[in-house]
Amino acid sequence: MIIFGTTGIKSTIKSGDFHCPQCEQSKPYRHRKVTKFFTLYFIPLIPLGSAGEYVECGNCKGTYILRVLNNNANSNNEQFMATYEKAIRHSMVLIMLADGVIDNNEKKQVLKIINKFGKNDLTMSHLENYIEQVKKEKEDVTTYLKKVGPSLNDHGKEVIIKCAISVAAADGNIDESELLMINKMAKAMQMSSAHVKGIFTEMFGESKNN
Ligand SMILES: [Zn+2]
Repeated sequence: MIIFGTTGIKSTIKSGDFHCPQCEQSKPYRHRKVTKFFTLYFIPLIPLGSAGEYVECGNCKGTYILRVLNNNANSNNEQFMATYEKAIRHSMVLIMLADGVIDNNEKKQVLKIINKFGKNDLTMSHLENYIEQVKKEKEDVTTYLKKVGPSLNDHGKEVIIKCAISVAAADGNIDESELLMINKMAKAMQMSSAHVKGIFTEMFGESKNN
């Protein structure tokens, strides 16, 4: 008796990172193809053509239609921008809160920065609500910076640190708690202390360099 039949053999066409709809973050994927084979005694012998292609998430093992890869560059960008905006907002508000006093000039400076780098413009009352939210949540200053840090070049990191320094300095002086937080922010983005010192020197000259 001759035993014959068909079987599907999976192969990987391409792999990379994509925004997984289920994990809701960037994860590795495999673009898989199933080829139907004619089998003789369970041995696949003759390819009968493609039985379909799909995208598989390396993390949750979820499978998706290929279209999930389209617009992925876009959605990655959007995702990055959203996290970047969060990182800016959150860290600037925490810097403002660092010395325990919210100065009016600090608030104005924070608003200016948020609206310069964010996509969504805030009013002063939005900002005040957000400050209350940040106070309640007690999320660490490093949380979002750690996420955006790896995607930023030196210039991008410097921009954030310079903004933080400008907020800290808005009330007339930079105190110890603010300095500590600025250094913590820089560390979260993997910046060296020499790099941070260089930024201070650039902004204030040698004398105020701590
Ligand atoms: Zn997934």
